[in-house]
Amino acid sequence: MYDVTSKKAEDFINHEEILETLAYADAHKNDMPLIEEILAKAAEKKGLDHREASVLLACEDKEILDKCFRLAEEIKQDYYGNRIVLFAPLYLSNYCINGCLYCPYHGKNKHIRRVKLTQEQIKEEVIALQDMGHKRLAIESGEHPEMSPIEYILESVNTIYGIHHKNGAIRRINVNIAATTVENYKKLKDAEIGTYILFQETYNKESYLKLHPTGPKHDYDYHTEAMDRAMEGGIDDVGLGVLYGLELYRYEFAGVLMHAEHLEAVHGVGPHTISMPRVKPAEDIDPDEFDGGISDETFAKLCALIRIAVPYTGMIISTRESEKVREMVLPLGISQISGGSRTSVGGYAKEESPEENSSQFDVSDRRTLDEVVNWLMRLGYIPSFCTACYRAGRTGDRFMELCKNMQILNCCHPNALLTLKEYLEDYASEDTRRIGMEMIQKEIGVIPNEKIRQKTSDYLNDIVAGGRDFRF
Ligand code: SAM
Repeated sequence: MYDVTSKKAEDFINHEEILETLAYADAHKNDMPLIEEILAKAAEKKGLDHREASVLLACEDKEILDKCFRLAEEIKQDYYGNRIVLFAPLYLSNYCINGCLYCPYHGKNKHIRRVKLTQEQIKEEVIALQDMGHKRLAIESGEHPEMSPIEYILESVNTIYGIHHKNGAIRRINVNIAATTVENYKKLKDAEIGTYILFQETYNKESYLKLHPTGPKHDYDYHTEAMDRAMEGGIDDVGLGVLYGLELYRYEFAGVLMHAEHLEAVHGVGPHTISMPRVKPAEDIDPDEFDGGISDETFAKLCALIRIAVPYTGMIISTRESEKVREMVLPLGISQISGGSRTSVGGYAKEESPEENSSQFDVSDRRTLDEVVNWLMRLGYIPSFCTACYRAGRTGDRFMELCKNMQILNCCHPNALLTLKEYLEDYASEDTRRIGMEMIQKEIGVIPNEKIRQKTSDYLNDIVAGGRDFRF
């Protein structure tokens, strides 16, 4: 039975509740008085529940869709402003004992080159990432008890935080590894990770079991209840995600919102981020083999409605998507993007030849980080390398409170400008630096609190290569 507060997957992601939600949405998709009522609630910018949001998703009226897009843009602006946080994935190992049908790491793939980075190789990767200007990483690994046990992940986190090359430093490491135990989540927390990210892939249990035929990931309940264990282990920033393309998107949409509602109801804090990946071609993988492929237009609608339903949650889009698609969804609610990414193991320090492919999926946006930063600014966004919240203790409910009260303009905005200036001084091309300096001049005036504005201005003047003694 559906129970948002139960810690059992079958209760909080209740199949019957999702089916009833979809039937309700179908029955009301042309019910204009109800839709207007839902839109009026959405306009309060405090979110919608999975049923209300599903009605909007089912509605095909062009005018309503336009209203949703405009509202999503407003919410994004109110809660996150024009800042876009940048990060890069770092693949540690692609050894895997699971059998996920959409992932080239699956144990039966004999073509892919298997690689596990040594600590020395991790150092080389991190130096290459620092030389690009990255400050925030998401580490990724296949699931393998011998090749990448928790001790290997912890040692790698420690290695990464310890590398200081020129002015470079990785200040926040988010971790995307397989579902694990409360004890291991505690260890990750103690290692000072940022967000623990785990994609559900699909919320539909029947499909999930088919798509994950073998390996520990086959256990739907263990996977779905992972975020509760992570929070029990003390990790208060968790990141959800569905791999769109595997199953019917309307089912997944209701599922991910129910998951967010569950975390909020049980732990008092919803997901820190929701990622928006779509399944992509990869070695041995053809996305057309799956049932749920969605058009770019539907993808944009999903982004906008997630923004409206959970206004306070960060939204992530990776280089799985092309420049064109990324440009389309950025204003609709995206707050974080990856840039200059390599999905191969060891791909930053050394370019791989196509024959020695170890990558997880084909990257659509192949631009360098500098090109991405330049492009963001030309579109009017402030590229941010800020990681301060985590280190200042603004995680979990403390971050959510700031965000829900739309107070982060006095907090994130100055930090974004400071970290952008750092990037411009240390890593940017001439053209990017010129555009960036102009942007900083303009954006400093947007900080509402006068004292903070003055302090930011002083700090900005202090940032010169090699000469700064404060941390963001
Ligand atoms: N091994 C970990 C696990 O089992 O959750 C997570 C790491 S995996 C490197 C990160 C994510 O990549 C997966 O959760 C999946 O959603 C995504 N992924 C796998 N194959 C993909 C493909 N062909 N296209 C796009 N994304 C894919």
